[in-house]
Amino acid sequence: MRRALVTGGSGGIGAAICRALSSRNFEVIVHANRNLDVARALAAELTAAGGSAKAVAFDVTDGGQTEAALEELLEDAPVQVLVNNAGIHDDAPFPGMRRDQWTRVIDVSLHGFYNVTRPLVLPMIRTRWGRIVTITSIAAQTGNRGQTNYAAAKGALDAATRSLALELGSRGVTVNAVAPGIIATVMSEGAFDPAMIERLVPLKRAGRPEEVADLVAFLVSDGAGYITGQVVPINGGMA
Ligand code: NDP
Repeated sequence: MRRALVTGGSGGIGAAICRALSSRNFEVIVHANRNLDVARALAAELTAAGGSAKAVAFDVTDGGQTEAALEELLEDAPVQVLVNNAGIHDDAPFPGMRRDQWTRVIDVSLHGFYNVTRPLVLPMIRTRWGRIVTITSIAAQTGNRGQTNYAAAKGALDAATRSLALELGSRGVTVNAVAPGIIATVMSEGAFDPAMIERLVPLKRAGRPEEVADLVAFLVSDGAGYITGQVVPINGGMA
């Protein structure tokens, strides 16, 4: 059974990804930061449904803490599937954006990617099969008012994805990003009212976390073995 680590598994999209991977026979490591209880409950749900799952917690911005937690996980077996999903936003018009808003958003997304991905890559390579999928955002392509920090972080992840894919392609490891538009979770609640969604989204609705999860599940499958270095949009047709 292949092992999958989903960072931010305690959140809306992350939980859907954990469920999708568990139902496709992956052993799922549900990651949380502050909400370990949520991750534990999800791991229990997956186990009760016949899957194999456990919960872990660490702050992806803390390199030492993250490395220690990953080392512990790697004692059991390599992690062959990594879904970098943990992320935050902290919006403000740029002239009023505080330095800590700028730094924190980039720290979680971009430095979090480094802290989590780097220690897992060599053990993944040794198995000659691996999948790395990072959840970015349409904001990286189109920009979004008030999200200069978030767009910068997600755009950097798209670029990192393309570079890492070049490094790992010959080792049987694919590296892709998934760039959602508006997905109905706590994160997007309040940011978009129904009229705005109607105006912005050709499909006239927000996406569901399960729809993002299905795409991720495909990208980590054997069937997606010839897709790498791509940023795959899932946004209801938003330009
Ligand atoms: P949620 O707010 O529901 O979940 C965010 C997750 O990230 C939580 O599990 C949280 O853990 C974790 N997290 C936050 N900070 C840290 C940290 N310092 N260290 C480790 N984990 C952390 O968000 P969504 O499910 O909506 O979003 C998931 C991803 O999808 C994000 O990367 C987001 O940018 C992206 N996205 C979302 C869109 C949307 O419309 N919802 C659109 C486009 C992209 P905990 O709660 O345990 O602290």
